[in-house]
Amino acid sequence: MKMVQCKFIKKDGRQCLAQAIKGQDYCLWHSQSEQIKKLRLSKAQIGGFRRRKYFNVPTENLTGLELRDIENCSKVLEIVVRETYEGRMSPQKANAVTGAVKMLMESVEKTDLLNRVKKLEEVIKDGRD
Ligand SMILES: [Zn+2]
Repeated sequence: MKMVQCKFIKKDGRQCLAQAIKGQDYCLWHSQSEQIKKLRLSKAQIGGFRRRKYFNVPTENLTGLELRDIENCSKVLEIVVRETYEGRMSPQKANAVTGAVKMLMESVEKTDLLNRVKKLEEVIKDGRD
């Protein structure tokens, strides 16, 4: 049977790519039929329950871990990979943590470089005096 594309136009002006419900103009997510709205709500609730599973098992505690340290940042990334891979951390949380840790690592590296330059400048200055 031929697939009918959902006729919904998204905010960015592009048409929804999902398959329309059989005999209707819109997909499950864009249908305005009361029956489908109810079904959509129940599916969203199931999705909500599924999402919650991510929040219940913090197997490795990061509280108190000094994060202005490259090795500890690497440890956090390692934990995120493992927790996400094994389904204990949501991909959203993993993305947020990974992004933040990456910024921390860059900041630590920059601070370290700056301190090295300062030391070099002092050595040069002392040599001149
Ligand atoms: Zn749609």
